[in-house]
Amino acid sequence: MSSKPWDVVIVGSGFGGLTCGALLTNEGKRVLLLEREDRLGGRATSIKGEELSLPYFENLLKSTGNEWIVRTEPDISEIVDKQLLKGFTLDLGFHEYVYHENGRVGILLKNFGEAIKFYPLQENYYWFDNKWCGMAPPKIEFIPDELMSEFGKVAKGNMKMFPKDTAQFDHVSIKEFIEERTDKKRIQDFWYLLATLVTTINHPKDISAGETIRSSNPVGYTGGHAGSGNGGSVEGGFITVANKLAKIIKDSGGVVRTQTEVNKIIVEDGEVKGVEVSTPTGEETIEAKVVVSNVPIQKSFKILDENVFPSDWVKHVKGLRSAGSASGYIALNTRVLKNRGWFGVMELIPEGEGFRGAVRCIFEGLSNYDPTRAPEDKQLVTFYAPLTQEEANNKKKVNKVIDALNEFLDERFPEYHESVEWAIYTSLDYLDGVARSPDQVGNKRPEIKAPGVKGLYFVGDGVRSWGVPMDATVHSGFIAAGMIAKKDCLQMLPEYLR
Ligand SMILES: Cc1cc2nc3c(=O)[nH]c(=O)nc-3n(C[C@H](O)[C@H](O)[C@H](O)COP(=O)(O)OP(=O)(O)OC[C@H]3O[C@@H](n4cnc5c(N)ncnc54)[C@H](O)[C@@H]3O)c2cc1C
Repeated sequence: MSSKPWDVVIVGSGFGGLTCGALLTNEGKRVLLLEREDRLGGRATSIKGEELSLPYFENLLKSTGNEWIVRTEPDISEIVDKQLLKGFTLDLGFHEYVYHENGRVGILLKNFGEAIKFYPLQENYYWFDNKWCGMAPPKIEFIPDELMSEFGKVAKGNMKMFPKDTAQFDHVSIKEFIEERTDKKRIQDFWYLLATLVTTINHPKDISAGETIRSSNPVGYTGGHAGSGNGGSVEGGFITVANKLAKIIKDSGGVVRTQTEVNKIIVEDGEVKGVEVSTPTGEETIEAKVVVSNVPIQKSFKILDENVFPSDWVKHVKGLRSAGSASGYIALNTRVLKNRGWFGVMELIPEGEGFRGAVRCIFEGLSNYDPTRAPEDKQLVTFYAPLTQEEANNKKKVNKVIDALNEFLDERFPEYHESVEWAIYTSLDYLDGVARSPDQVGNKRPEIKAPGVKGLYFVGDGVRSWGVPMDATVHSGFIAAGMIAKKDCLQMLPEYLR
């Protein structure tokens, strides 16, 4: 082992690990962050079209979100060989940062003098009752006038809750919660759609009410509304966030190493001692007083001996379900989608067609409002349709979703199909690490401080934090850093994001 142990070794460069590292180096800790891949950001990394080669792209998709290419137009080898992706910047599928620059990571970066440009969503539309409905106040178009007063009453009751007041509804489904407050189907549907957007889960019985309410309330506090969704994209792709967080670590004396895979977190006598790693040049053992694992929580036991934890905890963690999605990128040779925001589809596939409830979908002309993503004369469209883990791994079902989306786009945008230059459709069963269902949120999530092992912490979108996944993993980074530095790091955030 090396002579001087690191104060903290962080395994993985997802936003959770990077946030924790940035906060800890700022507290004077010697931090070493180790990432297996050759780029930072994990599931929120980005790739430039001209960098893309087929095995590399496939491996990156697989190793981060267990994502796979379902089909492409034209054949993927032609897309790569002809360099059709040149000038495009792709995240690993559809990505929006909720509350954009006013979210947790935006605040953190600003605080460290490393603010980046977020492009906020501006005009979202939802397909409902065979028409596009705008959602910008004062008129929420899919709520008829005669229901506005009841709609307002339900919304007010929910929106004035602070995060701590919402825990009582953690283990209640959004369906049960809303049905108790209104019997008007239209108002119920509004909440079900919102809950799907927040959690990437289709069926309202599978979505936690507490998590939905606390994650959607900051939309209002941060100056947004239902019409904007209050999400946003990042100049140059989400990898910009990862690179900035790594810069903060390095500028404060920390070290960030890529292509360094941790094979084992060493635990002796109930205490963390360090890690064993493989690099392109060989194997190493690195000593550390504290180790923070940003490895997706269910996969922790690949690098941790499960016998060092309480057995019922291990069983619980192994049984956690994630939330998946069909996803993809479509390049158009003209600007078919005109708005600078989303299109949401309440029922891309109706209930009763072999899926867990109706399949909802969001698509957007990303490059309309973030011009850094596509050449000026093209349009980059991205989409996601939430799926269960089982559905996301079922090729037939995913193809059915892709067909339904194409049919929908053809019908609503007559010039759509002839404008497609290329399309890459993917699917993944690990969009959100631990699905935000009533039995998996709040105190049902694995603790950030590992049980039974001194000096070991977990960060990520699957541990005990809350929010929309990217913001939730950043939250876990704040909490873990606070525990390690013995300081309330959450004070950097406004109360409604703590
Ligand atoms: C297609 C897609 C669309 C999404 N859309 C959205 C969205 O719109 N909004 C949103 O908020 N969230 C979205 N998400 C989810 C979001 O990307 C994740 O919640 C978030 O990035 C997870 O961050 P994390 O810190 O938990 O870890 P991860 O990003 O999973 O990072 C873990 C890191 O650990 C590394 N690692 C793993 N094992 C080892 C090892 N043994 N040694 C060293 N390194 C290791 C991995 O390579 C990776 O870099 C989406 C995800 C995907 C894949």
